[in-house]
Amino acid sequence: MTNKAYNPFLTAQKQFDKAADLLELDEATRDFLRNPMREFHFTIPVHMDDGTMKVFRAFRIQHNDARGPAKGGIRFHPQETVDTVKALSMWMTWKTSVVDIPLGGGKGGVICDPHHLSAFEQEQICRGWIRQVVKNIGPFSDIPAPDVMTNPQHMLWMLDEYETITGARYPGAITGKPIGMGGSQGRTEATGYGTIITVREALKELKIKPEKTTASFQGFGNVSQYAIELYHKMGGKTLCVSSWDNKESKSYSFRKKAGINLKELQGITDIFGGIDKIKAKELGYEVLSGEAWIEQDVDILVPAALENQIRGENADKISKQVKIISEGANGPTTPEADIILNKKKIFVVPDFLANAGGVVCSYFEQVQNNMNYYWAKDEVLAKLDLKMTTAFAAVSDFSKQHNIQMRDAAYVISVNRVAQACQSRGWV
Ligand code: NAD
Repeated sequence: MTNKAYNPFLTAQKQFDKAADLLELDEATRDFLRNPMREFHFTIPVHMDDGTMKVFRAFRIQHNDARGPAKGGIRFHPQETVDTVKALSMWMTWKTSVVDIPLGGGKGGVICDPHHLSAFEQEQICRGWIRQVVKNIGPFSDIPAPDVMTNPQHMLWMLDEYETITGARYPGAITGKPIGMGGSQGRTEATGYGTIITVREALKELKIKPEKTTASFQGFGNVSQYAIELYHKMGGKTLCVSSWDNKESKSYSFRKKAGINLKELQGITDIFGGIDKIKAKELGYEVLSGEAWIEQDVDILVPAALENQIRGENADKISKQVKIISEGANGPTTPEADIILNKKKIFVVPDFLANAGGVVCSYFEQVQNNMNYYWAKDEVLAKLDLKMTTAFAAVSDFSKQHNIQMRDAAYVISVNRVAQACQSRGWV
């Protein structure tokens, strides 16, 4: 789901190579971790509402399961590519490792645009996806979850198909289910809240009070909306958010110098996180061209849309005022941009740490499914806070001890854990 010139898998490999060099990994371990362990490419035929038959291409990639069952979301996107899914599956391996939960990394995708699919067509895609991979996923091997443009209803259709085929109840086979149907309290908030927990910890290190800060967010979907909610609870002010306009196939940024009103914007946003431009103007927002979110004079930037958004050619446009970037999205920053951010001395919380809240809560969901006993929301969010804060502190301490960037520190910690698991199993 990215432009043709950009290949996120090459970025993921480049980042991995740097960590492998720092760790002086042997050749076999390097070769093993540079590529996914298993890839499934398949097709899903769907009876469309207009009577025609349409075939959708889909994937499931399991990058590594040495530390536990593979874990990762499924995206629905018209520009999905196998290389994006491969990159995301690799990032999932590092993500579960950096927060030290007993899971590996996987990712799935379907090339489709839910904007143009009825609920019944989407249900068939979900059930068809499961039918193709049912032998290769499960609570003890690979556990899917929602991601871009997939939601709890999709997960429930998938779980229902899985349980129908296998003939028993396996609520832990898929996470991100609706509350009351095996879902965990707090899962919807988890990724965005987790991102802001890392912002809170970074602000503490920089000795800045949250209530004295401003921020700009890219994206206004699940991650961004909950990130903004917690950021506002901490006293911060959001000056700008951006979103994708599906009709025009371009993005817009929405700015209010006095600070955006989250509830007001949510009231004019569709289920895909698209903000209505006309209504936003009526509510007094300035509507700016897409990349304006990155150029704002704010203290904090949170890219929470897609990969490849902070690049060599636009990283220079980031204001001198920006002190922290917390990557809510997966892979938003290219290695070229990273060099510029380092020169600008911006404190970057890398994606697989900043957005790990989702998978942490997915793990909690599985634990609750296995116990068949469910925790209250406060309990889930307190456990989430502890996991995120602990992981942040470990990465930050390592980065200071070895005088390396947060991204490199996070990579070294995670790759080392996974490499050791592979080696002690005797795989490499
Ligand atoms: P979402 O589909 O709910 O929202 C995506 C948002 O990004 C929408 O508001 C959309 O309009 C906007 N957007 C898309 N392209 C854009 C562009 N070019 N410019 C500006 N805005 C654009 O997705 P989400 O679940 O919020 O996920 C966002 C990112 O976070 C993705 O990279 C995803 O992989 C990552 N992530 C999500 C979770 C999760 O739990 N949802 C967990 C970890 C990581």
